[in-house]
Order: sequence, then C-alpha cells, then structure tokens
Amino acid sequence: MNAPIVILGSGLAGVSVARELRKLDKQVPLVIVTADDGGFYSKPSLSNALAVGKSAAQLALTPMAQLATQLNASVIHAHTRAERILPEGHALETGSGRITYGKLVLALGAQPIRLPLQGEGAAAVLSVNHLNDYAVFREQLEGKRRVAILGAGLIGCEFANDLRVAGVDVAVYDLASQPLGRLLPARAAAFFRARLEAAGVRFHFDTSIEAIALSSQGDGGSSSYRLVDKHGNTHTADLVLSAVGLKPATALAQAAGLNTARGIVVDKLLRTSAPDIYALGDCAEVEGLVLPFVMPIMQAARALAKTLSGAAGGEVAVDYPAMPVVVKTPACQAVVCPPPAGAAGTWREEVGPAGVRALFVGAGGKPLGFSLVGEAVKEKQALAAQMPAWL
Ligand SMILES: Cc1cc2nc3c(=O)[nH]c(=O)nc-3n(C[C@H](O)[C@H](O)[C@H](O)COP(=O)(O)OP(=O)(O)OC[C@H]3O[C@@H](n4cnc5c(N)ncnc54)[C@H](O)[C@@H]3O)c2cc1C
Repeated sequence: MNAPIVILGSGLAGVSVARELRKLDKQVPLVIVTADDGGFYSKPSLSNALAVGKSAAQLALTPMAQLATQLNASVIHAHTRAERILPEGHALETGSGRITYGKLVLALGAQPIRLPLQGEGAAAVLSVNHLNDYAVFREQLEGKRRVAILGAGLIGCEFANDLRVAGVDVAVYDLASQPLGRLLPARAAAFFRARLEAAGVRFHFDTSIEAIALSSQGDGGSSSYRLVDKHGNTHTADLVLSAVGLKPATALAQAAGLNTARGIVVDKLLRTSAPDIYALGDCAEVEGLVLPFVMPIMQAARALAKTLSGAAGGEVAVDYPAMPVVVKTPACQAVVCPPPAGAAGTWREEVGPAGVRALFVGAGGKPLGFSLVGEAVKEKQALAAQMPAWL
C-alpha cells in the first residue's frame, strides 16, 4: 500500500480538506490524527449557541465513527497528539506510535492567547476555542449571573450578545476605545456599541484587566472574582471569559525545522518549506496572511484537495477573493470585509438612522474594503462583488 495522506487535526480545516479530497479521489489511503475525539462540530456555533438554545452536546454534529465512514478514512487516530514531525523520514511520532506519510497536511488550528494576569483567580479564566471548552464554559455558567469578557473583538462581542440573550449580566473590557477595533471605523463602531449597550452589554474601553482575585467562596463551592483594571478600579464577576485572540499552532512545525512566522509559512500552493508537507486553516500563514475564518479555510481546502488528488495534473494555488465575515450579534447586524493587507486608503462613512455604511477607499476613490452595520448589511453581496481579491 502507498504511504497514506495523513491529516493532522480534525477541525474545519482538516475535515474540509478530507471531504474535498474524497470528492475527487475515493480510494487514496487517508489517515487522520487528532488530539481531540475526532468528531466534527461547527466552531462558529459556539458563540451563538445560547441564543439558539443549544447545549455543547447538541452542537456535536458528526461523531468520529460516522465521520470515518463518510470520509472513507483508513483510520482516525482520536485522542492522539502528534509529538514530532520527521520530514526526512516522512513520518510522525505520536502518542500511539510512529505513522509514515506520503503527504502530510498540518491543520493544527490555533491556541487562545493567555493574558499575563496576576491574582489567584487568574487560573480560572476560561477561553472557548473548542467544543470541549464550550462544555466547560456552559457547566461553569450554570447559576452564574455576572460574566466579565476580556476583549471586545469579534468573538468577545458575539459571546457578550449571546449571554445577554440568556439574561446574563455582561461587562466587556478592552484596551481599545471601541468594539471590533480592528474591523470597524469610528462611526460604525459607535453605532454597533450603542445597539449592544441598548441590549444591556456594558463596555469598559481604554482599559485592561490586570489582576483577578478570588472574592468569595459560596456554599455550593461557587466563586466570584474581583477584577482590577489598569486604572486601579475594581469590578466583580462570577465567571471570566477571555477572548483576546488566538495564536496559530506553530510549535510542532517549528521544532521540525519548517519555516514559521505568525503562522506556519506556506506559499499559494499551501506548501510548507518541507517537501510533501502542506498547511491550512488557523495554523497557517498563506503568503503572509493569517485568516482564521471559515471562508478562507474552505477556499484552501478545495485547492489543496486538488493538489493531493492530482486531479488537476499538478499543484493548485489557492485564491482568496474578498470574503466578508458576518458578525453574529443579533442586537446589531454587522458585516466586515477588510481591505487587502497593507492597502492604503481612508474610510468614508455614511451614517443613517438605521445603520452605517463604511467604505474603505484607495487611490481614485476605488473601494477596497467595507464595514456595514444595522440595516446597511443588506448591501453585503453587491459590495463584495466590487472588492479586489485578497490574494
Ligand atoms: C467562538 C468562535 C466563533 C467563530 N465564529 C466564526 C464565524 O462566525 N465565521 C467565521 O468565518 N469564522 C468563525 N470562527 C473561526 C473559525 O471557526 C475557525 O477559523 C476554524 O474553525 C478553524 O478551524 P481549524 O481546523 O483551522 O482549527 P481547529 O478547529 O482549532 O482544529 C485544530 C485541530 O488540530 C488538532 N490538533 C492540534 N494540535 C495537535 C497535535 N499536536 N496532534 C494532533 N492533533 C492536534 C486539534 O485537536 C483539532 O482537531 C470562530 C471561531 C471561534 C473560536
């Protein structure tokens, strides 16, 4: 038997490349190695599951056995961590032995960034980047009234809105002076903020939480926390959720001598610096771009599947058209489509009573990116068609 295609990781990136590959080649031996249970779930649902009334168990879409059948995978090694990649031997060392590969796909995802917080409550801060994390979050949320969220980016705002829908008191802290700081220009951000505040979210901007002390221990073993911000103000919460960003998982690749920067460095063909090793998804930096979103992952999975199957007679480059991201905040609809990396231009915002349409325009008034909030989101399709490709 030929050495198999081995996919490391069973998140959206790993599973999508396997699914796309099977559309093109039903037989090539395929092995998936994953640190988690090998089941498939939709990660974006984690930040709006309360609003739609779903538990962690209900978010698990495809159990491992079913996925293995769907993918005609020779094996899915679940709960198996890859410990070392040996590029010269075309092999992996894992917790359950050595696995050789013909081609290796790194779909290792990213890890939540941990803030350097002081205080005995710091260790209790939760992050949600996996279904298992979500199960813990929901378990700990049981009976709690006040949640503090560190970070007012996309994930922080989505969780804030979701928790409000469930009647939880939510305070969000961020160093920036507005929500979605990297995605919305000022007036769009002000509109978005006002809508979320009207829904009951309390924002604390231009600050950061520096220490978390354990405030009390209730009869049922429940704790509450005293958060101290950088101005010395104190705040109280029953649970603290960190949503300050993710760091691509580069350690395994780096230890194997592969080029890494912000992510595992790959070219447009999704090739790493080592022969027969490819990378995609949250762990990858594609031609300088780290795009931890569903649509770019799907683009990459389709291109890589063609390469792996040989269906196109050679390696296939990924292309990234402009791909707007919908922010899942029912209190204020929002869609963001950032300009291509490094593009020069300015924001032009049109503020209306029911929304803000913001265009990022470059030389000669050429639209390069956009942000839409409120009713302006209905322009998403029309504007997306005018945007330049990201890659
Ligand atoms: C709460 C939340 C909401 C989101 N909402 C949206 C949204 O609305 N729209 C959007 O476009 N994007 C959204 N995203 C981003 C999107 O979900 C991710 O970009 C995508 O799911 C990442 O998939 P991945 O496969 O690259 O990584 P992951 O899903 O993290 O998968 C990584 C895999 O690698 C495995 N692994 C890691 N290390 C090892 C090892 N050493 N050995 C073996 N296996 C290993 C893990 O077990 C896992 O199976 C959201 C993200 C979050 C966290």
